[in-house]
Amino acid sequence: MPSGKVHDKITLVGAIIAIPVWWYLTPAPQNGAIGGTLVVSTLFSGWLLSPDLDLNSSIYKRWGPLRFLWYPYQKMIPHRSWISHSWFLSPLMRVGYLLVMTWLMSWAMLWGIRQASGLGPGVPETTPLDLVQSLYSRYPQHTLMTILGLIFGTALHTGADTLYSSLKRRQ
Ligand SMILES: [Zn+2]
Repeated sequence: MPSGKVHDKITLVGAIIAIPVWWYLTPAPQNGAIGGTLVVSTLFSGWLLSPDLDLNSSIYKRWGPLRFLWYPYQKMIPHRSWISHSWFLSPLMRVGYLLVMTWLMSWAMLWGIRQASGLGPGVPETTPLDLVQSLYSRYPQHTLMTILGLIFGTALHTGADTLYSSLKRRQ
């Protein structure tokens, strides 16, 4: 497979190419913040949310002290399976996974704080789904661009993996 560094460069080039494509396809006047969302989301998808989180990879290590969030994912998902490497579904599943894990962690922290301070049991009332819904209703275009960037970032990775494998097979 292409190395992590090669994948990082492909992500960067893809994010740069996305700017003129987005500009050309969007009716004027273009909103720079929406284009920026696409770029940031593509970079995030390739550099932090990469399909290779299913391995003890450079991406996994990039999460630093927060890498434990991805530990169950890495152990549960076989490397290069459709769950981590499919073009459309896998980035959305990773975002869903991250939201649920973050939510669980904040839930546990809040619960701990409430217990320790004698406030009694209390749980956050907002679920990850509520968060996505409220983001979408407030910023529909930014949300769609985020989803597009997430899918694009993964497509660049899976595309490079697929191309590399087929070239290897031919040799
Ligand atoms: Zn891969």
